[in-house]
Amino acid sequence: MRPPKNWLTVTFMVLAVTTINLSKKQPMRIGLITLALSCLMHFGSWAQAAMQYNLRFPKPETRYVEVSLQLTAPSDTLDLRLPVWTPGSYLIREFPRNLDGFVALINGKEVPSYKTSKNAWAVAAGAGQKVEIRYRVYCNEYSVRTSYIDEEQAALVGTTYLLFEPRLMQKRHELRIEPALGWKNIATSLPEIGGNTWHRYAADYDELVDCPIQLGNFKSFTFEATGIPHTLAMVGQDQFPEAKLRTDIGKIIEASYAVFGDQPNARYLFIVQHNSMGGGGLEHTNSTTLQVRNQVYDKESSYRGFLGLVAHEYFHLWNVKRLRPVALGPFDYNRENYTRHLWISEGFTSYYDNLLLARTRLMPEADYLRVLSTGFEAVLGNKGDEVQSVAESSLDAWIKFYLRNENSANISVSYYRKGAMLGMVFDAALLNHSRGRFGLDSLMRFMYQKYHHGLGRGFTDAELEADFRQHLGPLSDTLFRDHIHGTKPIDFARFAAMAGMRLEDTSKRKPMAFWGASWSRQADKQVVNALREGSTAWEMGLQYGDVLLEINGKAEEDADRWLRSQQVGDKIKIKVLRRGKEVELRGKLGAYPAPQFQLSKDPQATDLQKRIYEKLVGYPF
Ligand SMILES: [Zn+2]
Repeated sequence: MRPPKNWLTVTFMVLAVTTINLSKKQPMRIGLITLALSCLMHFGSWAQAAMQYNLRFPKPETRYVEVSLQLTAPSDTLDLRLPVWTPGSYLIREFPRNLDGFVALINGKEVPSYKTSKNAWAVAAGAGQKVEIRYRVYCNEYSVRTSYIDEEQAALVGTTYLLFEPRLMQKRHELRIEPALGWKNIATSLPEIGGNTWHRYAADYDELVDCPIQLGNFKSFTFEATGIPHTLAMVGQDQFPEAKLRTDIGKIIEASYAVFGDQPNARYLFIVQHNSMGGGGLEHTNSTTLQVRNQVYDKESSYRGFLGLVAHEYFHLWNVKRLRPVALGPFDYNRENYTRHLWISEGFTSYYDNLLLARTRLMPEADYLRVLSTGFEAVLGNKGDEVQSVAESSLDAWIKFYLRNENSANISVSYYRKGAMLGMVFDAALLNHSRGRFGLDSLMRFMYQKYHHGLGRGFTDAELEADFRQHLGPLSDTLFRDHIHGTKPIDFARFAAMAGMRLEDTSKRKPMAFWGASWSRQADKQVVNALREGSTAWEMGLQYGDVLLEINGKAEEDADRWLRSQQVGDKIKIKVLRRGKEVELRGKLGAYPAPQFQLSKDPQATDLQKRIYEKLVGYPF
C-alpha cells in the first residue's frame, strides 16, 4: 500500500513515471497506457474511468458516507452489487445491510431500480446511457475489515461501501473524495490523479477495494527499506517512538524480503489505527491496516507483539496476496470463496512472524524456543485437533473459525496455530532431507516464482502437494495424509531432533489437576463458559451457563485458583445454580491433558543438526 499527501505529482509526465513504478510487472506497457490516460485527463476529468465514485461526508458524526457513482450502462440493464465479505477475513458480513437510499438517475431524473438479491440492484437504462447512482452507507464498525466514520476520521474498507458492476470490474475505477470539514490527511495506496491528493484511481475493482483509505488528521513518516519507501500513518496517536519503529520495522522488512528475494511493490503503506482495544491486522497487496492499543509502545512485551503483527501482515504481501491458493483471487464478492490452504496462507505466515523476529534479534533465542514449545503444547492439548483436520478447518473457516461458540474448542482446530507448527515441521523435514540446503524459505520462493511470476495464478490442491513431494520425497505424502487431511497427533520430538533439539514432556513427572470447565465472571458470579469433551466436568454433568455456588461445601471466590491447590484423583463435589434451581454434582479430578514441553539443545548434536538448527531457529547452535 501507499500513503497520502506527500507523493504530490505535479505534472502529468511525472504522474506517468510514478505509475510505471507502481507495479513492476510489464512496466513499459503500463507506462504507455498511463501516459495516454494522463494526456486524455488533460481534456476531461472523468473520461477514462468506467466507474467514477464521489464520496462526501456532510455529517460524519452520523457515521454516513454519501456516494455518487457515475457509469455508462453496458446493456439495457445495469447490475450493481455490493460485496458480502472482505478478502482476508473469511466470514459473510452482509455489508449491504448498511446501505440505503439507493436511487438511479439519468439526465438528473430518477429511473426505475429494484433489488434482485440481498446484494444486487437492477437499473433500467439504455445501453450506452450515462447513469448516476446515489446511495449512502452507515459505517460504525471500527475494525481492520470494516468501515468506520466519526467527526475525527473515516477508516474506509472498499468492500463495505463501493458498488461494482460485474461487467465493468476489470476496467479503471476513480474516486473523488470531499473530506469533511477540518480533515487534512489521507492515507491510501491508491495513486493520485493529476497531482490531486483527493482524486485517486485503481486499474480495476479488485485493486480499488484492496486499498483501504484513511481520512482525518494524523502524523505519518516514511523510510526506505529494500530500496522502496515505506510509510506509517499513525492514526489516533501523536506519541510514538519513531526512530525505533524505523529501525525495527526496517529489519523485519529486510528479513521478509530475504525469504522471497523479490520486492514486487514500488511503495508500501502501514495504516496504524490506535484505540483502547487493539484489533489485529488485515493484509493487502501493497498496504496493511493494523489496529493496536494506544499503550502498545510502552512495554517490551506489547511492543514485541506489535512487531509480530507487523511481520505477519508484511509477510502476507507475498504469502496469500501473491503466492496464493486459486480460490483467493480473483475473488467472488457475492459468496464464500473456499480453500483448503489457510494452514499455509495464515499458518505459515504465523510461523514466519515469530521466526522473522528471531532472525532479526527482535526476539531472544530462549523466547523463540518457548514460542515453539508452547505451540506444540497448544496443538497437542486442543481437543478439536483430534476431530478436525487443518484442511477442513480452512474450508470451514466461514462457519467455524469465524463463528466460534462455547463448543468450538471441542470440534475445531486453528489453521493459524497448527499451521504455524506445521511450518516448523515442514521446515525441519525439508532441511533434513536436503542436508541443510533447501528449507521452507526455498520452497516458498520456488512456489512464489512458479505461480505468481510464472503462471500468474494461484496453486491448486494437486499442484501444491506435487511441489512438496518434489522437494521432500515420500515423507511429504505421509505428512499430508496424517497432519493436513488427517488428525493424527504430530510427533514434534522427531522434527525437533532433526535440528539437534530434545523435546521432553515434563507433565508426567508432576501431573497437574484438571477438570475441564472454564469460567467467566458475570457481575460477582462465576459462570461455566466452556467444557472440554470427555473431561471430569463433562462427565459429571456440569453444563454451559451453570453458576458456581460451592465446591466441596464451601463458597470459592476463584475456581481456577482453587484448582491449582488440588491433586489429580481428588474427589470433588460441586453445587451450582441452573435455571433457578440448585444442583449438586460429584466427580474425581483428572490430569491436565496437554503436554508440558521443555526444549533444549542436544549436546551430542551432529554438524548437520547444528546447521539445521541455525536455519530453523535463526540463532547459532
Ligand atoms: Zn494473516
